[in-house]
Amino acid sequence: MPAQEEIDRASGFFKKNLETMPRERRTEYLNRKSREIVQYAYRHSQAVRNKLDAVGLKPKDIRTTKDLEKIPITKKTELMDLQKQSPPFGGFEGVSLSEMRRIYVSPGPIYEPGESEYEELGWAQGFFATGFRPGDIAINTFSYHMVPFALQMVDNSLHMVGCVTVPSGVGNTEQQINILRSLRVNAFCGTPSFLINIAEKAQEMGLDLRRDLNLRVGFVAAEMLPESLRSELEKKFGMILRQGYGTADIRCLGYECIKKNGMHIPDDKIVEIVDPETGAPLPPGKTGEIVSTTFDKTYPLIRFGTGDLSVLTETPCPCGRTSPRLLKILGRIDQATKVRGLFVHPGQVDEVASKHSEITKYQVVVTRREHKDEMTFRAELKEEAPPSERVKEEIEKSIRDVMKVRGDVQFVPRGTIPEGARKIDDQRTWD
Ligand SMILES: [Zn+2]
Repeated sequence: MPAQEEIDRASGFFKKNLETMPRERRTEYLNRKSREIVQYAYRHSQAVRNKLDAVGLKPKDIRTTKDLEKIPITKKTELMDLQKQSPPFGGFEGVSLSEMRRIYVSPGPIYEPGESEYEELGWAQGFFATGFRPGDIAINTFSYHMVPFALQMVDNSLHMVGCVTVPSGVGNTEQQINILRSLRVNAFCGTPSFLINIAEKAQEMGLDLRRDLNLRVGFVAAEMLPESLRSELEKKFGMILRQGYGTADIRCLGYECIKKNGMHIPDDKIVEIVDPETGAPLPPGKTGEIVSTTFDKTYPLIRFGTGDLSVLTETPCPCGRTSPRLLKILGRIDQATKVRGLFVHPGQVDEVASKHSEITKYQVVVTRREHKDEMTFRAELKEEAPPSERVKEEIEKSIRDVMKVRGDVQFVPRGTIPEGARKIDDQRTWD
C-alpha cells in the first residue's frame, strides 16, 4: 500500500468515458437513454404507463430529453397517494418482487423497491471525485436501518470504488473515534454535524485531530455544508471534504469534484430545473425545482419533482468533467424542510399538535447554532391549561415519535404566534 502522501487524490475519473463526453456526445447519449427508459417504464411500470396514457402519449413520442417535458411531473405527494391506493409501491416499480433484493422504508412512510444488483453511478463518481481511492478504509456513519442511503447507496458505491467499508452507522461517537484510531480510517462518510461531533468529542478525549486521527477525505450529505464549515473542518482534520446531493427515491443527483464548483450531475440521471408553479422548464442560471429522470429499471421514476430548489450551470468545469452542475441547493419549494438531515413537513407538525388538546396555536421554528440544526416547537395553550414540565415532556415525546427528530417545546403567551403563520418557520441562513 503506498504511503498516504503518494496517493493522487486530485486527478482521474471514476468513469472517464462518460464523465468527459463532449457535449454533442452527451446529448446523444442522454437522448438514447431517455428513449430506452421511457419505453421500458411504459411496459413495466403501471404508474408510468398511466401517466403517459392520461395525456395521450406513447413511448415513441419521446425521442429526446427535450421530449420528456411532455410528460407530467410526478410530485412526492402524488407518489405517497398512489402508494396508499396501490401498495406498496404505487405501481412505480419496474420489476417484479422476485427481482428485488430489499424494500426500503423512508419517512412517510414511503416504500422504495431495491434492485438485486446495485449499478447506480452517482455516489461512486462522487466518492472518486472527492478523492476516495481503492484501498482506502472508509467509515460509513449514515443510518443502515430502513432507509436506502447507507446500506444500498453508500456501502455499494464505496465497494465500486474499491474502498473497504466500516459499516458503523449513526451515533456512539466515542466508539467511532476508537474505530477511526485503531483501524487508521482515512475516509469519512456522514453528515457534517456528525463530523463536528467527532471533532468535539475527540478533542474532549485529549486527541489531536491531525496526529491521532488519519482522516484524509470526507464525503458529506443530507445536510447543508456552508463554506465556512467546510473550511473549518478541512483545516481541523487536514482532510478534503466534499458533498453530494440526492433523494431516497431518485438517489444521487449531484456530487462535488475537487474544484468545489457546484455539484456535477451523474451520468445516469437527467436533471431539469422547472418553474415550481407552472412546471415549465427553465434555462441555466434560473432558480427552480429540481426534476429528475433516472435510468434505473427497478424504480424508473420519470420526471420526479424533488421539491428542492436549485440553479443549474453548463459552463465547463476545470476538472474536465463535462456534465452540467447544480450550483447549490437553495431549500424547499414548500414549507417542508430538513432538520438534521431528516425531512420535516407541516403535516407532522399538525399531527403532533393534534395529540395534545391543550394546544391552541403552534409553530415549529428551525434555527442553527454552531453549525447544528435546532428545532423548537412553539405552542400557545388554552387558558385553563397552564404550562407545566409534564406537558412539555409529553409534547417532546410526540415530536420524537411523529417527526423522528428531537425538538424542544417552548410555551409562548397567547397571541404570540401570528394568524396565518407558517407551520414551519425556517430561520436558518447559509453563506
Ligand atoms: Zn468539476
